[in-house]
Amino acid sequence: MTIDRRHFLKRLGLTASTAMMSLDSLTALADRQQSSSAQSAAHDGMTLRTQNRTGERVSLLGFGMMRLPAENQELVNKMVDYALDHGVNYFDTAPIYSGGRNEAATGAALSRHPRGKYFITTKMSNYGKNTWPLGESKKIYEKSFRDLRVKYIDNYLMHGVGQGGMDEFRGRFLDNGLLDFLLKEREAGRIRHLGFSYHGDVRVFDWLIDHNKDYHWDLVQIQMNFLDWRHASLSKGGWKQDADAEYLYGKLEKAGIQVVVMEPLRGGSLAQIPKEYSKQLQALRPDASAAEWAFRWVGSHPNILTTLSGMNKMEHLVENVKTHSPLVACTDAENELLERIADGMAGIPTVPCTTCAYCMPCPHGVDIPGNFSFYNKAVNDHLLPLPETSDSTYAERKERFIKAYRKAIPAEHRAYRCTNCEVCLSKCPQQIRIPNQMARLMELIRSKG
Ligand code: SF4
Ligand code: SF4
Repeated sequence: MTIDRRHFLKRLGLTASTAMMSLDSLTALADRQQSSSAQSAAHDGMTLRTQNRTGERVSLLGFGMMRLPAENQELVNKMVDYALDHGVNYFDTAPIYSGGRNEAATGAALSRHPRGKYFITTKMSNYGKNTWPLGESKKIYEKSFRDLRVKYIDNYLMHGVGQGGMDEFRGRFLDNGLLDFLLKEREAGRIRHLGFSYHGDVRVFDWLIDHNKDYHWDLVQIQMNFLDWRHASLSKGGWKQDADAEYLYGKLEKAGIQVVVMEPLRGGSLAQIPKEYSKQLQALRPDASAAEWAFRWVGSHPNILTTLSGMNKMEHLVENVKTHSPLVACTDAENELLERIADGMAGIPTVPCTTCAYCMPCPHGVDIPGNFSFYNKAVNDHLLPLPETSDSTYAERKERFIKAYRKAIPAEHRAYRCTNCEVCLSKCPQQIRIPNQMARLMELIRSKG
């Protein structure tokens, strides 16, 4: 039976008790109640977590839309349909993903389903200084609603706070009155939960959590995986050091703020760990992939609301759904093994690139994530002759490395095109010293073995 919204609200008994609520809050509440039975039916198997303030049940596996090819709407639709059918109900996007097309592709796919069946997270990506004035930031905000085809946003995050330190945070959100505006939008119900995603200068993170009594953050998105738990700062090469995930998670848990995890596989690198470590994992669980181990480690933490996975292939979605349906928590022995592996991996000189491509395009043609992916894989596969130049296999491995590099990266996108212009530096959420790393890669390719 179909009923209109006014009668539906009346049947829920909302008219008197919620007279002070905005229409948007009521719309959201109605959507949720209308679809709650459908949700519980669909979610058999998928591990769910409860959102603190609203009590809503959120899938532990969240769909990071960032890596989906937004121009291929058919694939986006297909993957969104599969995710919803298998209990995934959390979808994360942002105005800057896919060159600005990701929200529209996400909105087109999700709007084919009842609004109460899914939770949408998007962000205020006002990175450019020209977007800092309140009016300009509001344009980004309003466009998100249009592109996503929604009347309310379930989770709205200030995007990438911490990059550029406290000065940039003040410019983007405080001095222009934008945070005050977002708080009012939450009161009005157009934003249902408000929070921020964090990368970079930990002083910004600390300031925001220390002011939680003023802002009442509903959720915070951080990078967390078994390597960054205790080795995030080590891996950044000592430049503007980031805080370990253990610190961030601990502080959020203490403050009663739920955590959304990004980069559980550290840009895919934890799905392809060095062989000596993957063998140790296989000895305990012969059929489990390295990715499954990494997801299980993250999901074993109780204050995680959802773990985002940036899936762009159906096979990854199918595997990740399986891992989370239901998620089997890591035992103490398994946690200890992963801790030992993390200690070992922290000594390997990979670049902590997550292949997010925020740094792109490079004005000089360098394929930054492509170069770093190649390098990391070479390190993990022991293709790179580091650092023992006296090793008898050094020259042979070096030649293989150079050949493989030339095959993998076209000449116009290679590291040597880097002019050290530093355009990419401030865009990298991992704070990688990109030109320095390109110079290191060039050295490896050029130097005589
Ligand atoms: S520093 Fe190098 S990699 Fe970065 S934008 Fe400039 S040329 Fe490209
Ligand atoms: S270098 Fe930084 S911004 Fe560029 S793809 Fe890697 S993590 Fe992303």
